[in-house]
Amino acid sequence: MDKIMQSRMDRGFNKYQEEYERKALEVLRSGWYILGKEDEAFEEEFASYIGTKYSVGLASGLDALWLAFRVLGIGQGDEVIVQGNTYIASVMGISINGATPVIVEPDEYYQIDADKIEEKITEKTKAVLVVHLYGQAANMTKIVDICKKHNLRLVEDCAQSHGAYHGDKMTGSFGDFGCFSFYPSKNMGAFGDAGAVTTNDPELARLMKIYRNYGSEKRYYNMVVGANSRLDELQAGLLRIKLSHMAEITKEREELARVYLEEIENPLVIKPSVAVGSTSVWHQFVLRIPGRRDEFKQYLEDNGIMTIIHYPIPPHRSEAYTYLGLGEGSLPITEQYASEVLSLPMYNGMTKEEQMKVIECVNSFT
Ligand SMILES: *Cc1c(COP(=O)(O)O)cnc(C)c1O
Repeated sequence: MDKIMQSRMDRGFNKYQEEYERKALEVLRSGWYILGKEDEAFEEEFASYIGTKYSVGLASGLDALWLAFRVLGIGQGDEVIVQGNTYIASVMGISINGATPVIVEPDEYYQIDADKIEEKITEKTKAVLVVHLYGQAANMTKIVDICKKHNLRLVEDCAQSHGAYHGDKMTGSFGDFGCFSFYPSKNMGAFGDAGAVTTNDPELARLMKIYRNYGSEKRYYNMVVGANSRLDELQAGLLRIKLSHMAEITKEREELARVYLEEIENPLVIKPSVAVGSTSVWHQFVLRIPGRRDEFKQYLEDNGIMTIIHYPIPPHRSEAYTYLGLGEGSLPITEQYASEVLSLPMYNGMTKEEQMKVIECVNSFT
């Protein structure tokens, strides 16, 4: 058998190849390439999928994050609460604006520990950034309450959680802004860089449209210093195709996760679990192997199974954030997770044989 990759984007493409190719040609032949009818249709369809009134197409997930805080007026002198075990883009979305990230430990589901948020709130706190990590919705019931009680803005990083629910609402519909990435390896991946925000507030949606296009609503009238962060028509058109298959895409991942959860049996390995009230769309299937993660990773690789660590260096320990002054041991749970986690192969189009080989190898590690 060929090597089993951790992720395979070609399989997702192949499944709907004809539809993607037809749409790509249609856009190429249209003569209109940035912010046109594909973008408008995508924004409407995506907002309706997430369950918000508006969505605004952008160039990336990082842009969605930093522009969200920019539009909310959160910057220099302000603090934003975020979890320690996340992709560094979450933290950059805060700090690019000059605001200070204040980091909270995760819970057993790898989400922000809602019980540890309030102790971090100061008079400078302006917002909470919730990351629905690995595809699982965080405890939004509690977090929405905390934000209301302390009059804080709520921003959601949904780069990994397209289609995940807490209660009967999808991630991206709880906060002032839901921030999405459509980087190709995400559950709802485009074929290049792309992103979006969702919101229920018409003024926030309007401002986001201004900021994404050089701060201009009317051509050559620039209200604010904005960005060039527009969604191109090719990505928007291809994302519309993917969006129309999201139910099936998510179901397939849930089924892969169900088999992993059922069949992986090894006392050295801690399996992931999903909190009551939340669902996961299984962006990653993350194991923890206390004490022996690197050895386990090497063992799988020697058997032709590729894995990835999400993430080996937590943001507070990266060089970019030495200025936060958070030394080793300052966030023990975050740091422990960083030393123990490993993401197994998980992708749409994974075959039964591939998954069985992964399971056999995981179970035979001693
Ligand atoms: C991928 C990702 C981002 C950034 O998205 P880009 O489109 O790559 O800019 C932000 N946050 C999280 C949690 C991510 O996984």
